[in-house]
Amino acid sequence: MDKKTLWETVLAQIQLNVSPANFATWFKNTEIASQNKDSLTISVPNSFVKEWLENKYQKNILRIIHNCDVKIKKIDFVVSRSVDRVKKAPAFAPVVETEQLQLEVFKRNERTGLNPRYTFENFIVGGFNELAHAAAEAVSQQPGQLYNPLFLYGHVGLGKTHLLQAVGNQVEKELGKKETRYIPAEKLISEIVSAIRNGTIEKVKKEYRSIDILILDDVQFLAGKEKTQEEFFHIFNTLYQKNKQIILSSDRPPRAIPALEKRLRSRFGGGMIADIGFPDLETRMAILRTKAEEKELELNKEICEFLAANIQTNIRDLEGAINRIILYQRVKDKKFDLDKIKSLVKEFTLSSQEKLTPKKVIQVVAEFYDVKENDLVSASRKREVVRPRQIAMYLLRTRLQNSYPFIARKFGGKDHTTAIYACRKVSQELTQNEELKRNLELIKMRFLNV
Ligand code: ADP
Ligand code: MG
Repeated sequence: MDKKTLWETVLAQIQLNVSPANFATWFKNTEIASQNKDSLTISVPNSFVKEWLENKYQKNILRIIHNCDVKIKKIDFVVSRSVDRVKKAPAFAPVVETEQLQLEVFKRNERTGLNPRYTFENFIVGGFNELAHAAAEAVSQQPGQLYNPLFLYGHVGLGKTHLLQAVGNQVEKELGKKETRYIPAEKLISEIVSAIRNGTIEKVKKEYRSIDILILDDVQFLAGKEKTQEEFFHIFNTLYQKNKQIILSSDRPPRAIPALEKRLRSRFGGGMIADIGFPDLETRMAILRTKAEEKELELNKEICEFLAANIQTNIRDLEGAINRIILYQRVKDKKFDLDKIKSLVKEFTLSSQEKLTPKKVIQVVAEFYDVKENDLVSASRKREVVRPRQIAMYLLRTRLQNSYPFIARKFGGKDHTTAIYACRKVSQELTQNEELKRNLELIKMRFLNV
């Protein structure tokens, strides 16, 4: 039997045993790449399929092949090197989702910019965030009347965005007629800059002046952005005079934001300032237990204690650790013990020097998509590197919080708008594209060499 016929026979048998969606997902665009005396190499379109077939189907495939050709005792998989690989990659059928990670997909509301995932109901309160929480809740009940502006500050990953958006979502739910708008400061900056360029700044300002509750996240990014500060100062004043609620967040208090106009600094600090500190051990345990429960993950006491003791300064990391464990369980279909957990969540428990670097991100992404690192960081427009490059940019942004200009420089000195575009594109697609979501999780696992 020649290679092609052999593989067709094998596929025909597999097709009898798996659902059409699974078949389309995992076996489309596979073929026998080479055949030796007692082994076969099967080429697959990407490394996700490779990993999946190795973990889930290897035995079955081998059994079927062995039935067709008794000489074959071993099979392995390679990612196809064909230049058409990108085009050939299968369209993943969403049907497989059920047996996949149930990473929640929430869509940002177009009008308000709010993500419905952030609510007061799922916000855990402890001594470290009590004040900020109380102030936010009060503001959500009587926007514009109590603390204006409300300024929340705290270290990254400790719930500022969550709390800010919880206010917005609460207002939307209870006081539907109010015009609420959530916007990250970086987005405001690019909006204002391009409005000035296009001569539409008056129109943009008018829009902002009609808002009832304006939520501006991460205002530390306004540092040094004089034009935006100038325009925002006027927006702020108009809203403030009309008793409209303004809510701001930052990673530091107003007085510590460098290159912020004096008059803006004093406006920012003119209402209520509340900080979010670090959760203590007990609160971290409570957070872990609650989050694990929400996601139906069983964590025994030993594992819970290990995680709480070792991930100290970031709630996002506590959540990340739980997601990683869930993913590992699903993809590898294995039980875990404390040692496994330790290696699995290493990234979150590492000291800062050992942490992920841009170099490592680029290397892993290049490897995953099987492209050359040099091509990835060059200005090359080769079709097969465009996509991986966007993903690498997205990861630098989301994992390492690198600035857009920095990211642009890393990738062939592109304009920073290219980086912004890439990050937006990937995060938008992530809400719809299951394949991309899985690939990203696998890439993240490789950051840890699990
Ligand atoms: P920040 O904006 O301060 O960097 P985020 O609000 O993005 O932090 O929080 C990071 C992650 O941790 C989010 O997924 C958020 O839902 C979660 N989180 C933070 N604080 C809490 C809390 N008190 N209760 C529940 N989840 C929280
Ligand atoms: Mg935030």
